[in-house]
Amino acid sequence: MIKLTKRQAEILEIVKENGPITGQQIAERLSLTRAALRPDLAILTMSGNLDARPRVGYYFNHNYQTKLQAEKFLHQKVTDYKAHPIVVDISTSVYDAIVQLFLEDVGTLYAVDEKGHLAGVISRKDLLRTAIGNKDLQELPVSVIMTRMPNIITINPEESLLDAAKKMINNHIDSLPVIKEVDEEKHTYLIVGRITKTTITRAYLEIMEQKSV
Ligand code: ADP
Repeated sequence: MIKLTKRQAEILEIVKENGPITGQQIAERLSLTRAALRPDLAILTMSGNLDARPRVGYYFNHNYQTKLQAEKFLHQKVTDYKAHPIVVDISTSVYDAIVQLFLEDVGTLYAVDEKGHLAGVISRKDLLRTAIGNKDLQELPVSVIMTRMPNIITINPEESLLDAAKKMINNHIDSLPVIKEVDEEKHTYLIVGRITKTTITRAYLEIMEQKSV
């Protein structure tokens, strides 16, 4: 991706609004000579920002812009998009976990042990499954029903949204805890956020709707 100069950005805007437009017409709009404009037009064409057709003029290359935006989206870091994690203690009852799920309007809760380390994941369906045929939801702790360490798929703040999307799709899960490692060998992590399929969709929309230059 090249960094555009102010003039190159101006040219892009002119072509975007008025294309197809000849080099001569662009030069007139910028009060420049055609010769003075030539290097910038060459750079914009070679970089893929503009398309040139003989005897017609310059076009804005929408495909190129979309590709740039898509690349930008995929390389965004988890840390910049992570949401607040909803955390419960492993001794919390299934009943209270269900209440928490509604209060916080989330689909997944994370359970932590007495040291505050990630111990389990509790999803909507984990709770529904337990609720069917279990009368004592107030007595049953989430530790009994949660998916526990070391089977939890996690993500680091420095990983990309592409990494996060792959992990969720490949493991058939809706969210990932964003973690800070305390001890890799013992699989002890602190939870610093969460990434969900909604996070990915929101980031995608935000970036694709950004005004491109
Ligand atoms: P739901 O069960 O509501 O469809 P998920 O698809 O996220 O939600 O969860 C499917 C199963 O995978 C559940 O049993 C849940 O405990 C487990 N799970 C969810 N997230 C993770 C994760 N990050 N790592 C490992 N297991 C997970």
